[in-house]
Amino acid sequence: MKIVYVLGTGQLGCMLRQAGEPLGITIYLLDIDGKIEIPIEKKDLITSEVEYWPNTEFTRKLTVNDSFINRDTFPIVSDRLMQKQFLDRLGLPTVPWAPIFSSSQWNQIFALFGASVIVKQRTGGYNGKGQWNISSNSLSLFPKKFYGNAIVEQKINFTDEVSLIGSRGYDGKVIFYPLTYNFHQDGILRVSVVLDNETSIQREVECMLASIMHMLDYIGIMTMECFLTQKGILINELAPRVHNSGHWTQDGASINQFEMHLRAILNLPMPAPIIYKPAIMLNLLGINMNTAWLYDPIIRLHWYNKEVYSFRKVGHLNLVTDNPIKMNMALDRLKIILPSDYVTGISWAQNQLKRV
Ligand code: ATP
Ligand code: MG
Repeated sequence: MKIVYVLGTGQLGCMLRQAGEPLGITIYLLDIDGKIEIPIEKKDLITSEVEYWPNTEFTRKLTVNDSFINRDTFPIVSDRLMQKQFLDRLGLPTVPWAPIFSSSQWNQIFALFGASVIVKQRTGGYNGKGQWNISSNSLSLFPKKFYGNAIVEQKINFTDEVSLIGSRGYDGKVIFYPLTYNFHQDGILRVSVVLDNETSIQREVECMLASIMHMLDYIGIMTMECFLTQKGILINELAPRVHNSGHWTQDGASINQFEMHLRAILNLPMPAPIIYKPAIMLNLLGINMNTAWLYDPIIRLHWYNKEVYSFRKVGHLNLVTDNPIKMNMALDRLKIILPSDYVTGISWAQNQLKRV
């Protein structure tokens, strides 16, 4: 079988490698800052766990390689300005936005989008980093060097934040996972929930993501983050890769997002997975491993073996059961054994489950 090289050595790459093992797929993770000559053969494949990387001799060489899957998509999706322009061209609904080039635009921006806006750097931001909440009396918070390198967005008063994960094969076939409801705190994903229901929104977002993937002739997993509002769906952003909000699929789907990505890029069969619902994913941020998490059989720990520091994603817990009593008991117990800042997210998940 072909060898798969993954650009990036983080947890997403490790989980891709893990998913490849039972299928006998050899996967090597490539350090973005690496300099090693890699003997990539024509038949091998290159994919990525990140959408943005520094422009080095190593990454330049890698990204001009014909084996780099979706190599023409990354420049579009990794730049917020180009991504927004692309979505506008497709006529898809995004959060109202404008490029920001100079301080002379602010009055017009506040008139258009309201007294307080979100400014996001065009490339390289993640987990809410590279974003500023700006109003007329906090203009000094915005670093001048980002004029020309940032976009402004209207602050959306959403009812729900959701993501859709889809996969597209070489024959244009697309499959989707059920809509995932996401809870963020300070720009960081804390909890994802997949409910045991079918919403009318599912079809709508699937059509949007399908048209995006078809237009890009995209292969593999792509994630679309959306805000649900009283007036309809707004796309927040796209990620051309496996996604944190899809980690529940490791225990809540017969084929998880990592395996599905590998199947797509290796042109293997890509049936719609069987889904076990409801499913909950809880991110573990900056805490040490606790064996108390392992006592409950419905709690599945995925630990990344990374150095622990404040708010770093170091693991996640997946909970999957169609028994509401067991699910609630497990969540109640986690409220006690996890630090107190997890309680809000867990309570949010428990409220979501009541919507079923
Ligand atoms: P990640 O890489 O973790 O997906 P990110 O750093 O790329 O995140 P965004 O998804 O743009 O950044 O923003 C992080 C979170 O901030 C969003 O999930 C949402 O909760 C909030 N947010 C972002 N943009 C807006 C907006 N225009 N209005 C309201 N909330 C927003
Ligand atoms: Mg995001």
